[in-house]
Amino acid sequence: MVTEPGWEGCRTFLVDRREPESETVTSFYLVPEDGGALPTYRPGQSLGFVLDLPDRMAPVIRNYTISDSPKDAFHYRLSIKREPAPADQPDLPPGVSSNYFHDLVQVGTKLLVRPPSGQFALRPEGKGPVLLLSGGVGCTPMIAMLNAIVDAGSTRNVWFVHGVRNGREHAFGAHVRAVSQAHDNIRAHICYSRPDDGDVLGEDYDSAGHVTAELLQSLMPDTSAQVFLCGSTPFMKTLYNDLIDKGFDEFQIVYEFFGNACELRETTPEQVAADTGLAPDASFKVEFRQSGVSANWTPGAGTILELAEANGVEPDFVCRSGMCHSCLSAVLDGGFEYTHDGVVTPMSDDEVLICSARPTSDLVVDV
Ligand SMILES: Cc1cc2nc3c(=O)[nH]c(=O)nc-3n(C[C@H](O)[C@H](O)[C@H](O)COP(=O)(O)OP(=O)(O)OC[C@H]3O[C@@H](n4cnc5c(N)ncnc54)[C@H](O)[C@@H]3O)c2cc1C
Repeated sequence: MVTEPGWEGCRTFLVDRREPESETVTSFYLVPEDGGALPTYRPGQSLGFVLDLPDRMAPVIRNYTISDSPKDAFHYRLSIKREPAPADQPDLPPGVSSNYFHDLVQVGTKLLVRPPSGQFALRPEGKGPVLLLSGGVGCTPMIAMLNAIVDAGSTRNVWFVHGVRNGREHAFGAHVRAVSQAHDNIRAHICYSRPDDGDVLGEDYDSAGHVTAELLQSLMPDTSAQVFLCGSTPFMKTLYNDLIDKGFDEFQIVYEFFGNACELRETTPEQVAADTGLAPDASFKVEFRQSGVSANWTPGAGTILELAEANGVEPDFVCRSGMCHSCLSAVLDGGFEYTHDGVVTPMSDDEVLICSARPTSDLVVDV
């Protein structure tokens, strides 16, 4: 049963079931080994995994969204896309964690799991129209949100708009169709960018090509919807900027990166300076103590992690969005602030997630 609160640190879960959702996405159903209660979560939140993988000296840390509504859950479901090597660099190793899940995680496998977390979450009892906008495996939080809206008996108008390559890669297609057919307030539009010969227009998908702001405007001319956005970085960057150009306010659009986070709206040093109250030519000295490197941070330099990378320092990182704590560093001196909302802040004020922070004074970090 789903109860509050969560747990401290890691808890051991067992894989209870696995189910293919498409050729590339497989769902894993997890139950706690201790048989205890499951804490509730908000639809859209994710779990952290500390994976002890074969041939790896250190644990691999990854986040996966809980891909179903919290109602009556006796398990958590994850839906994971197998990440191949990049198409233009086939000699690189394929994704470590996702391939581990697909190839080696079976019923009975034990996994160390951190509690549900994240700010990318829907309040099902909220009011007003909602646009759930996803590309590829970015659909997982949207499925959780869609199901939570249905489970709450909400009458909110919902558009579920999803872009994916073709029917072979399309996860949850039958489920979304069934939900939208059963509920007058829920509508779905599926775009296949490269439909296969066997994919049927009007049945498997609704239009060929990419999701565009023009398409969204034709589906829902009203710009008052709250937008949840998740997909590849180019998908998110294009749609975020185009939706704003079509009249959506920035605060209406919430988004989550599954990979490396970046600014969706390009910001100039002048804007950063205005946001932080600093002069555009402000400068702080940042010392990366372990590396023996010091560099000057200015409003155009980005995060402390970006400053480190620009100066030849290679700190650990994974999510680059302040969630996974892979880049957690001790602050030896000086001040900092986070660059965006939604950071899962460390327990101690003397620690900083350098992927999502900038200095507010000269700073010394143990990197
Ligand atoms: C909050 C959150 C929620 C998420 N939810 C989901 C979810 O629901 N479902 C899901 O599938 N994913 C989700 N993710 C993404 C997930 O955490 C992983 O990032 C994803 O599975 C890829 O991890 P990996 O270890 O398989 O790939 P990695 O090992 O991290 O590799 C990623 C890519 O880099 C390539 N690569 C390897 N070496 C190099 C190199 N030297 N240079 C350049 N490229 C290289 C790999 O081939 C691969 O294509 C989520 C992420 C976050 C932050």
